[in-house]
Amino acid sequence: MFKDVLAKYDFEDTRKFIHSRTERDVELALGADKVDEAHFAALLSPAAVKYLEPMAAEAHSITKRRFGNTIKIYAPLYLSNECTNSCKYCGFNHKNDIPRIILSDEQIKQETDIIHNMGIRHILLVTGESPKKVGTDYLINSVNIMKDKFNSVCIEVYPMSVEDYSLMYSHGVDGLTMFQETYNRTKYADVHPAGMKRDFEWRLGGPERGAEAGFRTIGLGALMGLEEFRTDQFFLGLHAHYLIKNYWKTHISISFPRIRKASGNFQVHEIVDDVSYVQMTLAHRLFQHDLGINISTRESAEFRNNLLPLGVTQMSAGSKTEPGGYSNENEGKQFEVEDKRSVEEFCNMIRSKGYDPVMKDWDRSFLSGE
Ligand code: SF4
Repeated sequence: MFKDVLAKYDFEDTRKFIHSRTERDVELALGADKVDEAHFAALLSPAAVKYLEPMAAEAHSITKRRFGNTIKIYAPLYLSNECTNSCKYCGFNHKNDIPRIILSDEQIKQETDIIHNMGIRHILLVTGESPKKVGTDYLINSVNIMKDKFNSVCIEVYPMSVEDYSLMYSHGVDGLTMFQETYNRTKYADVHPAGMKRDFEWRLGGPERGAEAGFRTIGLGALMGLEEFRTDQFFLGLHAHYLIKNYWKTHISISFPRIRKASGNFQVHEIVDDVSYVQMTLAHRLFQHDLGINISTRESAEFRNNLLPLGVTQMSAGSKTEPGGYSNENEGKQFEVEDKRSVEEFCNMIRSKGYDPVMKDWDRSFLSGE
């Protein structure tokens, strides 16, 4: 299990190792036939900032070979912002005084009609973590309401057992997103002071349990700004590497959201600038050629345009981050969206840069043999 891999490392020692990499280490990584863990650390290090140009050229060429000129497009649907956790950085923190919403059947139908009419065929269902109010029965009912409109339905919800993931899979869910937020156990405990999310290892094992249950896609992530970001990115890379090696039937992707303004005004550990963000993207691509790299609408339109040729494979578009947000702009967003372009505008930009927006790369009938 990945927890056994992680147990071999000390977060602080790893941070020191990454920060002590030299320009020579970066040059060795760039010249290597295969980028190993030590090379990856060098590419994530401050010493690699000088080498962004050759890293970008290599990342572009690898991505073109493995993924062609395609960008998979998806949109999130926030079903509920009910949450029993108190993550200090999140607007859905149960201590925050925001309107709490659980979409009704009619609202789900209305929201998914709008998303479908936007041209979206890959949907990501997002909830806070409240298994009693928004558990498997609610999720299965939601999937049944919408699944005829979408080719792929993924979930970003509380961590489940293999049995519950299998149940979701049997009702038409084909993918899972589960962010660890930070791989530093001490920081993790500090920013998750109460609720079931305190259980670091249960969360860490979520992606493995999802892969055991048969999910076709699994997305990992670390929230940049919570902890020293280069070290968190190193462990995110190792986590993805472990899953790719052990679950070859499942496509693994990563996201690295930066903390944005949300209710609660959490003070970030550090601000991650655009140059560092680009460097992290490139380092991941050079380390793992088949890894999906996802950039959401948390990032600005201009920045997302510039990231396109640098290893990215999937992007959200037209997103709303509050339950009911596609029908009405509400209070209680999980975070502010920066790229507010419509799906059509966004896809036009992608085409203008020589890429193909992919609205459908999978069909549920592949699962059921329908
Ligand atoms: S990050 Fe997730 S679990 Fe934590 S408060 Fe927000 S919605 Fe709840």
